[in-house]
This record gives sequence, structure tokens and C-alpha cells, in this order.
Amino acid sequence: MNFNWCHGPSCHTNETQSRVRGSGDNKVLRTIKIKIDTEYLRESVFSHFCNQRCLMDFISLHKDRIVALAPRREALETPIKVQKEKYESYRYRWNGNENTREPYMATRTTIKSVDNT
Ligand SMILES: [Zn+2]
Repeated sequence: MNFNWCHGPSCHTNETQSRVRGSGDNKVLRTIKIKIDTEYLRESVFSHFCNQRCLMDFISLHKDRIVALAPRREALETPIKVQKEKYESYRYRWNGNENTREPYMATRTTIKSVDNT
């Protein structure tokens, strides 16, 4: 069966029973071995990381080299239309004695995608 060792830089320092290996006085904490036994796992980033912490530790340690793989030097933009529409809503107002429900015109702002093909 295929497997990967977790790439978390400090995976082997995490004190869990699942990492304990060896016998007697020769025990160690070992990096987690990830069994790649499903297509889902093969496609997943978690085929190389045993959990979120190990993934984030790796990204933090290697972030400069990771972003160098696909540098972003300019902002990207997505064309949209912003639609504003009025609608009747209600709010509650304290009149000193009780809350009264009163109507008012509210504004709903909706971002609509634009077909830019
Ligand atoms: Zn790990």
C-alpha cells in the first residue's frame, strides 16, 4: 500500500499515543505515516499532511518558496454588477412601554456575476 510521511516540520514532536514507536527505553515519537488508500485522499492535500496544524506549519515555514511557484504581482479582478433594491422591512422601537414593530424601506445590495465569456 502507498503511503506518505506527514510533511509537517514538527509532526514528530507532537505528543500523541499514535506517534509512539519503539520498545523499552528506546521509545520515540515518529512522524505520522499517511496511508493513501482512497482516490479522495490521493487527490487531497491531506495525502501529505496528517492534520491542519502540520499543513499550516509547513506553509508557514516554506511560504516564500511556495508563493514563488506562482507569484501574484498584480491584483486579479472579477467583473460584477452591484444591484441595489429597496424592500419593505420592519424594525422594533421602544416607546417607553413596549416594543412596537414599524415598517421602513430598507436597501438590499446584491453582487451579481457577469457573463464575461
Ligand atoms: Zn503531521
